[in-house]
Amino acid sequence: MCGIIGVYGVPSASKVTFFGLYSLQHRGQESAGIAVFDGKQVRHYRGMGLVSEVFDEKILQELPGEIAIGHVRYSTAGSSTIINAQPFCVNYAKKTIALAHNGNLVNAESLRCELEEEGHIFQTTMDSEVIVHLIVKHLKEGLVEAISKAMKRIKGAYSVVMLVDGTLVAFRDPQGFRPLSLGMLNGGYIIASETCAFDLLSAECMRDIAPGEILVIDENGPQSFFPIDKPQRLAHCIFEFIYFARPDSTIFGKNVYLVRKRLGEKLYEECPLTADFVMPFPDSGNYAAIGYAAKAHLPFEFGVIRNHYIGRTFIQPSEKLRDLSVRMKLNPVKELIRGKEVVVIDDSLVRGTTSKNRIRSIKLAGARAVHFLITCPPLRFPCFFGIDFPSKQELIAAKHSIEEIRKFLDIDTLYYLSLEGMLSAVEDLSDKVCTACFTGDYPIPVHQPFRKDFAEVE
Ligand code: AMP
Repeated sequence: MCGIIGVYGVPSASKVTFFGLYSLQHRGQESAGIAVFDGKQVRHYRGMGLVSEVFDEKILQELPGEIAIGHVRYSTAGSSTIINAQPFCVNYAKKTIALAHNGNLVNAESLRCELEEEGHIFQTTMDSEVIVHLIVKHLKEGLVEAISKAMKRIKGAYSVVMLVDGTLVAFRDPQGFRPLSLGMLNGGYIIASETCAFDLLSAECMRDIAPGEILVIDENGPQSFFPIDKPQRLAHCIFEFIYFARPDSTIFGKNVYLVRKRLGEKLYEECPLTADFVMPFPDSGNYAAIGYAAKAHLPFEFGVIRNHYIGRTFIQPSEKLRDLSVRMKLNPVKELIRGKEVVVIDDSLVRGTTSKNRIRSIKLAGARAVHFLITCPPLRFPCFFGIDFPSKQELIAAKHSIEEIRKFLDIDTLYYLSLEGMLSAVEDLSDKVCTACFTGDYPIPVHQPFRKDFAEVE
């Protein structure tokens, strides 16, 4: 998963992009980068790590200009190295093209082979580079035509911002898998993966970039193009609501916090329990736990306290590091938990390893009974569209029954919200979301095994 920003017609655009990326940090912590156009040339800077680790005042001063794009990365395709950090920049026919992509293409490998056979030379292992090659191939026909042709070839999830010298472009896949919104900032424009970036910058949210839209912003202002036929159905990623997006963001037209709270209320409707109190595994379970506790008329407590100085555990790619940070991240409040029956709420159960450790720690703290409720159905199928649970082998619910998982977690109750319950929480979006990770019903055909960095993961 990744976060992207585009800025047009705003002084110190790189600084604005920096702050925008700061608020999208939860979408990717492996690398960060900014490309900026100063009226003559595109400059860019990228590095591994958090936005605040990669950039400082001096670096931002060396990126002058009023048009910029930025990216924070967490790899789902292509390995975690500086070569694969974005924006991806190339020079072509006296133009510099910089591109930042959020999502995952499902036909990148076959397109890459085809392009290589035609003589294209690739610099990275990212699927995003395929988009650049396809655009460059038709650039002589005009920018919009070139992007349209590329969009007709690529399949999968893509929310993209692109800088072509002094023009800012945004485009989004026709299913609208990943969010992308447009705002106004001091008479200029800002595009961001999530609206929380607008709030930070006091920008005004205008609208979403529509699924299938190409938005071009240049000296003539913004212009929209819709080059491809509407798909049979939209497929907004429901996991953005469940886990990924920030609760203060509005994505696909709905506030994430309120959806999560409704998920908690639905959980209570389906699985009403009595207990001494309701607690979340913070922060991912917070908002649903608030919803559950309110409906149940039970106290809401923070039974475990989060150390905020540790990143999202799953983002570090190596298994060893992940376990270490799980242990460091949450600490139970023993005096609160001892002897108590607790309802614990979390957003999702993926591999089961984190939850096992967390539950063990609250039991060691003296919990008398633990009921563990999850705000989505069992995750049984890999995501090919950008969420990092690509291998079926890694998904605990793909291999084990709910009763087996309950025993493995050593808890009194394990309950997953039903598909219907989850869908009712997104209200009128219920027939416009992708639920493939729960149902295996992929909104577009996936022909090839998903491979991270072109190496088999299954
Ligand atoms: P686990 O018990 O190992 O399945 O971890 C569950 C925790 O991982 C939950 O708190 C989720 O919020 C979080 N999580 C959500 N999405 C992912 C993901 N794509 N990969 C790993 N963990 C995730």
